[in-house]
Amino acid sequence: MAGTPPTTRAFRNVFLPTEGVSLTLEEDRLVVKDKALAKRFRVKVCGIPFGSALSTITIPYYNILWSDTTVPTSITIHYTVWKSKTTLSRETLTYSLNDERASQVAQAWSDRLLSLSYGKAQRQRRAKVLINPHAGPGHAVSIWENEVRPMFLHARMTIDETRTTRQGEGTDICENLDIDAYDMVVVVSGDGLAHEVLNGFAKRPDARRALKQVALAHIPAGSGNALSLNLNGSHRPGPCALAVIKGVTTDVDLMSVTQGDRRLLSFLSQSVGIIAECDLGTENLRWLGAKRFDVGVAYRIFNKRVYPCDVAVRTEIRDKAEITAHYRRVQRGESKVANVEESAGGEAGDGLPVLRFGTVNDEVPADWDKFSLDTMGSFYCGNMAWMAPNANFFPAALANDGLMDVVTNNGDIPRMEYINLMTDIEKGRFYDNTRVTYRKIVAYRFTPRNQEDGYISIDGERIPFEPFQVEVHPGLATMISKSGKFDAFGPTGWEEAK
Ligand code: ADP
Ligand code: MG
Repeated sequence: MAGTPPTTRAFRNVFLPTEGVSLTLEEDRLVVKDKALAKRFRVKVCGIPFGSALSTITIPYYNILWSDTTVPTSITIHYTVWKSKTTLSRETLTYSLNDERASQVAQAWSDRLLSLSYGKAQRQRRAKVLINPHAGPGHAVSIWENEVRPMFLHARMTIDETRTTRQGEGTDICENLDIDAYDMVVVVSGDGLAHEVLNGFAKRPDARRALKQVALAHIPAGSGNALSLNLNGSHRPGPCALAVIKGVTTDVDLMSVTQGDRRLLSFLSQSVGIIAECDLGTENLRWLGAKRFDVGVAYRIFNKRVYPCDVAVRTEIRDKAEITAHYRRVQRGESKVANVEESAGGEAGDGLPVLRFGTVNDEVPADWDKFSLDTMGSFYCGNMAWMAPNANFFPAALANDGLMDVVTNNGDIPRMEYINLMTDIEKGRFYDNTRVTYRKIVAYRFTPRNQEDGYISIDGERIPFEPFQVEVHPGLATMISKSGKFDAFGPTGWEEAK
């Protein structure tokens, strides 16, 4: 054999596909040196190439979607480039190879590039994609077709897509899904469709297996996209598509809500009072997108709306300083709360976990704290930190600490103070506001009093205005998250949200 032709060599991390081109694997990026690239990436002013052109580009591994070779002719690298802080474009590099030996070298190098680019993330996930054409301002289909699907295809995912045609279809599809045929369900919608997916799994005889085996992923296209903020650290479709491709499977706590004879799963939040009314009572303002929440809040504050209720809570941590300490301990991997282990295990075969505290129809356990609140302004219980791009309602929430965070405030306070309280949410000062009570809990019951009707929001969906009870199930679901961690003060949610 004549040996490797001089222009096609791979030694250490450098691959030389052809004359004048080198591809180098560095610690966290691919470095491409290519004279021909100079022309392609040269800045143009009024269509005229301008300035000295670069012949080197660096591509972080996170941005690389795929790399492969065709025997015997070429190597192709698909990747994404940030066009702005919030949008990505897709690019492709292709180099011809001069013989079959070169293709073999290229294949080995390309495999290394892929393993560096994917790390712990599973490659070529098989995705069931649900697109809600009705979500938010109605852009879900174009978001999917123009921004997300091309990226998924470049990442060589297997895609099976369905456009939902009615409410509840997401639940029906997931109730009957062949869970061995997919690695994840991707919702291209708001939080409502994600809620439907989890509740579809919940209806199955093998609920627990389905929730663990098929990961939930979110591409934001609704008016409420909290799940994306928490999982992907963004509410923009492009960055989220990349976060889903490169994300890792992550255990996430879910909550059971019982009301009447029903049992629902909730992944995000339950709310009653001012926040619930603004979330649900302003559907006619859908065209406003996320802004509709703000209009509603101002209106209710002006009218000093209060929501009398009885609340019973099984509290785990009640002091803000202790909550902060708990948050830091969990972040450092030093501790999980005791009842995570206690409750994570078996029970009830493959179905949903047995309810540790019974249902809303049972007696309230004797050791719960009981409150009668005549002037409740808002009751908000959450599992994740971010509820909207500027709303880190639960800054100490960790979706995998086996605890729910609950915040309440009195509605009978001076209007200016109330307005300050609400603006503190956006300013990141909500947690420290002395008007806000913040606890970490494992279960509670909420009973409305003296009101004909009203709004109760579960993950942004309305349920009847009747008593309900909630308990948390540690690690019941699997979701795709960008980093495998929940960190409201760190990159997740924060990048886009601040
Ligand atoms: P948004 O944040 O815009 O409200 P969601 O994902 O929460 O978006 O979806 C809103 C609701 O739309 C969900 O309750 C879902 O069941 C429902 N839905 C899904 N597909 C359709 C459809 N084709 N027509 C009407 N409603 C739909
Ligand atoms: Mg939690």
